[in-house]
Amino acid sequence: MYRIGNGYDVHRLVEGRKLILCGVEIPHPTGELGHSDGDVAIHAIMDALLGALALGDIGKHFPDTDMTYAGIDSKILLKKVINLINSKCYKIINIDCIIVLQKPKIKDYIDAMRKSLSECMCLDMECISVKATTEEKLGFTGNESGVKSYAVALLHKKLVL
Ligand code: MG
Repeated sequence: MYRIGNGYDVHRLVEGRKLILCGVEIPHPTGELGHSDGDVAIHAIMDALLGALALGDIGKHFPDTDMTYAGIDSKILLKKVINLINSKCYKIINIDCIIVLQKPKIKDYIDAMRKSLSECMCLDMECISVKATTEEKLGFTGNESGVKSYAVALLHKKLVL
């Protein structure tokens, strides 16, 4: 049995915060504002995974009113989602993620981001796609005040013998 989920997230970009995408810190004058480390791509991926199994969203699992999650590394939250999926006897077939931002160019970090996700999720790099695009200087990504990410995840029920 296959299940598919999609995820979407946005974070404001501000000075004094790190730009962290898929667990990789990318040198830039601005970074994501957020309760956690603000890793917009991991947040979209977690929502895609939770959505595939109709388990709600990251706001439900990791509320921003809970100080436990203040400044937390989003990879820790992703691992919790992976454990939840495993507990439901599902495995991930593949993930496809898009990061939308005007600057900086992140193409040189794509493989590092895939490797970071691969290690965090115990999933082969070949099953993890990370892509980047701009919105041609339009809107909040175009004026560099924010970054957004979309993700899709396909899961398959494990055979229980
Ligand atoms: Mg978020």
